[in-house]
Amino acid sequence: MTRDGSRVNRRAPGVTLLRADGAGVIGHHGLMADLPPCGIYRTGRPLGDHVPAGRLVFFHRHGDPGPGVYLPRGWTGNRARWHEQGHTIPSTEWAATLIPLPPEGLYRVREAFTCCARRCRTYEPDLLVQLGYDAAARPLLFVPVWTDTGLAVPEIGSAVDDDRLAHLAPLKVAEAEGQPDGGALH
Ligand SMILES: [Zn+2]
Ligand SMILES: [Zn+2]
Repeated sequence: MTRDGSRVNRRAPGVTLLRADGAGVIGHHGLMADLPPCGIYRTGRPLGDHVPAGRLVFFHRHGDPGPGVYLPRGWTGNRARWHEQGHTIPSTEWAATLIPLPPEGLYRVREAFTCCARRCRTYEPDLLVQLGYDAAARPLLFVPVWTDTGLAVPEIGSAVDDDRLAHLAPLKVAEAEGQPDGGALH
C-alpha cells in the first residue's frame, strides 16, 4: 500500500480521458504528475451535484474510468470506510483544490498543544492519540485509555483545529492481512 501512488495499480485503466473542451486531460497518458498523491483530503470545491465543498474524501490518482474521489460510507474504530464507487474528477485543476490532510491513525504528541483558541483541552507531550475525521473533514482526536480489560479507544473524540496536527508524530501500526479496505484501494 502506498500513499504516493508510486505502485502500479491493477485498477489503473489503459484509457485516456478527454473532455469535450480539451482541457485537463487526465488518464493513462495524461497529466498524472500534476495530480496530488492518493490519500485523505477535504474538498475545496464541489464536484458537480455529487460532492459538496468541505467534505472528507479519499482521492485516488487511478481507477476506472479515471482518478476520482470516494466518500465515506461509515466509520469503524474511528476510521472512515470508503464507498467502492467514486466520483471521477473533471480536471487536474479541480484536483488542485483538494486540501491534504494527515492520514488517519495513531500519533504521538510531539509538544504540548491546545485544541483551539478557547484552549478547552491541552494535549501533553508523548500522549498517545488517534486521529480521525468526521464527514466534514474536521480533525478529531481520540485518547486511548488503559482499563481493567486492556487498552480502550473511546468512540467520542475532541475536535481540534487543523494547524494543531503539526504537533503530532505518526506511529506505525501493523495492518491485519486481507483488510478489504484498510483506508485505500491499493
Ligand atoms: Zn490510490
Ligand atoms: Zn477547544
